[in-house]
Order: sequence, then C-alpha cells, then structure tokens
Amino acid sequence: MKFSSASLLLAALAVAACDSKTATTGETSTSSATVEAANTDPAAAETSGTKAIAEDEANATPAPDPTSIPAASAGNAAAILARPQVPILCYHQIRDWTARDSKGAKDYIVPIAAFKAQIKMLADSGYHTVSPDQLYAYMTTGAKLPSKPIMLTFDDTDLDQFTIARPTLEQYGYKAMYFVMTVSLGRPHYMTKAMVKQLSDEGNVIGSHTWDHHNVKKYQGKDWETQIDKPTKTLEEITGKKINYFAYPFGLWNPQAFPELKKRGFVAAFSLAEKRDQNDPLFTIRRIIASGYWSPKTLRNNIVQSF
Ligand SMILES: [Zn+2]
Repeated sequence: MKFSSASLLLAALAVAACDSKTATTGETSTSSATVEAANTDPAAAETSGTKAIAEDEANATPAPDPTSIPAASAGNAAAILARPQVPILCYHQIRDWTARDSKGAKDYIVPIAAFKAQIKMLADSGYHTVSPDQLYAYMTTGAKLPSKPIMLTFDDTDLDQFTIARPTLEQYGYKAMYFVMTVSLGRPHYMTKAMVKQLSDEGNVIGSHTWDHHNVKKYQGKDWETQIDKPTKTLEEITGKKINYFAYPFGLWNPQAFPELKKRGFVAAFSLAEKRDQNDPLFTIRRIIASGYWSPKTLRNNIVQSF
C-alpha cells in the first residue's frame, strides 16, 4: 500500500511522546496552514533565495571536527545548559495528504506547498542553517554561529526528503541533517544508498537513526549491535565519513543509553521537545516537529516559543 510505511506508523505512535504544547498548537492551526500553503507564490520563493545564499556565505564559520574538542568542554553540562538553545526542526514526510492519512499522522506529513512556504519563511526571516558540527562547537565552546541560526533535520529516510526537500533547501543555500534508518534504504518510497551518499557529498550531514526504529529504552543483549553498531557502520561505508550524531527513534531516551552511545563514538544525540537531561544535555539535544498543519507564521511562533 502506497506510503503506508513502517516509519509513518511508528511516527504516528510517537505523537504521544512529543511535546504536548507542540501538538496542540499544530491542531489549532489546521485551517490557516491549508489556506496559506495554497497561496504560496513560487516566483516569490525564488527571488528571496538569492539573498539568503549571499548572507549565509558571509556568515559561514568553519566548524572544528567535534572529536577534536576537549572532553572537559563537552562534559561541562552547566556551561552547555546556560547557552541559548539553537532552534532545530524535525521533518519526516514531505508530500500531499491523502484520504488515508490519519489526523495524528498529518503532524508528520508536511504537504509540499506548506513545506516550501515554511522554508521560504525561514529564508525571508533571515535564518541561516547550521551544521551539527557548528552546533556542537557552539554548545561545547561557545563558538560563534551565523545570525539567526537554525538546524533542519529529516528523519526516517523518506524518498521525498531527496526529491522535494533537497531541491527546496538548495534554492536557499540551506544544508540539513538526515537521520537515516538503514532497514529502509532502497525500499519503495525511501532513499537509496546512492541518494544518501549524494546528500553527504553535497555538504549535508548523515546521522544514525537505528536499523528499524526500535525504542532505545528497550535495548538489551544484541540490540545495541543490531540497532546501532551495524547501521552506523553501513552509513560510514556509504558516506566515507565518520558518523558522529544519533537521533532517538520516537525521541525516546533514558540516561542508560548515554554511555552506550558514547562508547560507540557518538558525540551528541537528538531527542524531541522534551526537557534536556541536566547532566548530559549533549545527548538530549531538543528538536521540535514542524507539523504538517502549521502555516509559516505558526512555525515561526513555535520556533521562538520552544527554544
Ligand atoms: Zn524516526
């Protein structure tokens, strides 16, 4: 059945796990999202792209390799928590809704016009995308970021992230982080290994998102090998780069996962809107799900309110 993917089902289940404020705001803005998305002018989107690219280049700050940053900086939780959070958005599917999509699933499915309008709003508002390495350097050492930094992340390997999101972001000179679930690579409606490699080669960053989206809190025995070790090795073989970042399926984590992830070489891990762990904020970096119901204005308000 078209688009009735495992990730979507899992994502729908994760509604309960994500921040209730985020979910509520999304539902109240249903009608305005649809109206504003329908009124998006593609010509206007193109003209605003050039400006964002020029500003982004002017603000570009080369980020050090995260593994070169001293452990003392990475371990200073108080200093990390004291720095303002960089807004991070989490996307899943970018496609138009169908009659089969449930109310809950639509938080995870952003219609194409709505997505383009959301990204255009970011560019028009002067946001600059930052890489996870830039974010990590900022969080651990206070390294300078471009003005109005934001990070864009895409979970679960959906094909439309390559066919729709990639060219849209390219238009504005934006880069993103893609958290890949390796079981889905090459399956219908998912990205292939070659696409993941291309995203990486083009300056985006690939992160680990387990083999088949099992909840980290339930791992025991060989689960760490199946869900983390093997998929991460696969991604390193595809990209030719070390994989430094992890995203928890459903955003669910517990402190017992931190040492397991650290000993496997991860320097940071991303959750959802829940409060950060006070001892290990680098392993509970917050993101909000940019809902399919949100107009550009609702998205902007949520960015400001949530971080
Ligand atoms: Zn996921």
